[in-house]
Amino acid sequence: MNVTILGNNSALPAHDRHPTAQFITLHTVDLLLDCGEGTQMQMARYGVKWRRLTHIFISHLHGDHYLGLPGLLNSMSLLGRTAPLTVAGPVALGELLALLKSMGGGHPYGYEVRFQLIDPARDLLLADTPEFSVEAFPVEHRIECYGFLVTQKSKGRKLLVEKAEAAGVPVSFYNRLKAGDDYVGEDGTVISGTDLTEDGPAPKRYAYCADTRYTESYLEVIRGADAIYHESTFLEEDAEKATQRFHSTARQAATIAQKAQAQRLLLGHYSSRYQEVHPFADEAAILFPEVTATVEGHVYEI
Ligand SMILES: [Zn+2]
Repeated sequence: MNVTILGNNSALPAHDRHPTAQFITLHTVDLLLDCGEGTQMQMARYGVKWRRLTHIFISHLHGDHYLGLPGLLNSMSLLGRTAPLTVAGPVALGELLALLKSMGGGHPYGYEVRFQLIDPARDLLLADTPEFSVEAFPVEHRIECYGFLVTQKSKGRKLLVEKAEAAGVPVSFYNRLKAGDDYVGEDGTVISGTDLTEDGPAPKRYAYCADTRYTESYLEVIRGADAIYHESTFLEEDAEKATQRFHSTARQAATIAQKAQAQRLLLGHYSSRYQEVHPFADEAAILFPEVTATVEGHVYEI
């Protein structure tokens, strides 16, 4: 799983940083987390293609997290998209999509946009395919807001080819061995699939914690993640502002990463008041050394 940072500034574009958007690349499909203004331009700038994009997840309806959506939806239509697209978000996002649809005479795009409501009273598992799942979790922001846990599932068990050959298993049965099946030979002997395979790679988990003030309410959801992206709008010297505005400091982000026993911490959503981003990583590294202050256009392997 790769994460391309398309935007990591908070609120306004500044210092050649842009509003929030992250492009997630999986084996066969891609996902977009938030879609701040200018996302389609950032995609073009960094050579990010939308052809395999199946889902867009919007954390909340502050402008810097969704205002790029109408433009991106429109451009994909003009460029010939026909595959349906799921857009998930809070209830008001559905109203916006309905409005865009009615303004476009009922058929604004050459493809279907399916709205998926994120409803805390319902199941927060938003997508679950053989390849990946996405689960929303509530965070604490000024308005209704969600983080997203993206899991790239394991591709089954790893085949021990030499052992399978020696056991006389036909090649046509290899995929079933990887799926965990036993092989029954012509003479009726059962050869255990687990003896001819080993554990595949562990699933990868990436937790995007959206905009939030410091809270431990979702620690259990993100525990042990391979990487978490936690906003660090402010440095600790502005901790009071962070709390008032329902945002976090780099130190608070590091505390969350440490308590969640994450493997790695990515920082972003920097306030425009800071021109440089390395102080965020420096501050967080005191508590959590495996930290990176993200840079737009960079691809982070999870
Ligand atoms: Zn916000």
